[in-house]
Amino acid sequence: MAGGAACHYLSIMSEIVIEVEHLYKSYADTMAVQDLSFRVTAQQCHAFLGPNGAGKTTAMKVLYGKAKPDDHPETRINVLGYDPRLQELKIKTLSGVVPQEDNLDLELNVQQNLQIFSKFYNLSRAHAQRQIDYLLEFMELTEKRKSQVRELSGGMKRRLIIARSLLNNPSLLIMDEPTTGLDPQVRQLIWDKLRELMRGGVTILLSTHYMEEAYQIADVLTIMDKGRKIMEGAPRELLESQVEGHVLEVTDLEYSDQFESAMDGSPFRKEQSSQRAIYYAADGSALEQAAGHIPRESFIMRKSNLEDLFLRATGRHLNEGQ
Ligand code: ADP
Repeated sequence: MAGGAACHYLSIMSEIVIEVEHLYKSYADTMAVQDLSFRVTAQQCHAFLGPNGAGKTTAMKVLYGKAKPDDHPETRINVLGYDPRLQELKIKTLSGVVPQEDNLDLELNVQQNLQIFSKFYNLSRAHAQRQIDYLLEFMELTEKRKSQVRELSGGMKRRLIIARSLLNNPSLLIMDEPTTGLDPQVRQLIWDKLRELMRGGVTILLSTHYMEEAYQIADVLTIMDKGRKIMEGAPRELLESQVEGHVLEVTDLEYSDQFESAMDGSPFRKEQSSQRAIYYAADGSALEQAAGHIPRESFIMRKSNLEDLFLRATGRHLNEGQ
């Protein structure tokens, strides 16, 4: 019996909730998404990470039927067993969407926003009310139940949109930059709630340009740039396999030559911007030793992070041209 339970567990764990192959989407002259393929496994959080314009929103919109992909013979899209090109409504019934913009009804209060939305799902009045009470509690908005939406802070609006996306008990949540512009406390709260939802069986696809967000909650990361996938994997594994563990940033470029000669042949990789030189090395002690030869205030030493991975993957700084 125990083996059977384990098998069942394994089959749930490996169930594919989203499968996309060779997705293309163009707008006039812009190729917003180019040959994108990826899979999302049940109960995992899969994050699209990339700068503005990378194609994250467009890819998500295709999945829930808001954007039509290009006609391409190789394109295959399967979301919860349905093709959004043909069965958009089925997908809408089974999933929840948190769009990038705050598209709440400003004329209504918090509770009314949820009530109106519950009508789209044909929930009975009593069922809707129970669900609304539960979701207001879950997103810590119960005290704001009667507040007008326009009086809410940015973080409260986001939490209300997340509550709204959960009205139909979705098994898949598609979230476009759910925490952009929020302060760290609200962001942490939302991450906790997302983790709780995943423990309860929900699968999450989200987009973000916060490295920290991807690192904190994503099981799998797809790094996108200019419409293409450029890397994919578990955040920690990607980091370990693609980027040296130790980083020293020389913030006063006057000292970069001195630092390099103090490295004395020890291997390093260098990224340079107009403001600083960034040195990557597997051996942190070599960086530390060489740093002893330049003034303390001319460098910062740290562990590598996803931003370094992104730099390596795209060969450019995140904020270039944004
Ligand atoms: P991201 O979500 O990563 O910021 P988007 O998917 O919003 O990226 O955009 C990808 C590219 O497609 C950008 O160059 C953007 O200007 C373009 N784009 C997105 N939506 C439209 C649209 N409705 N009409 C024309 N171009 C669009």
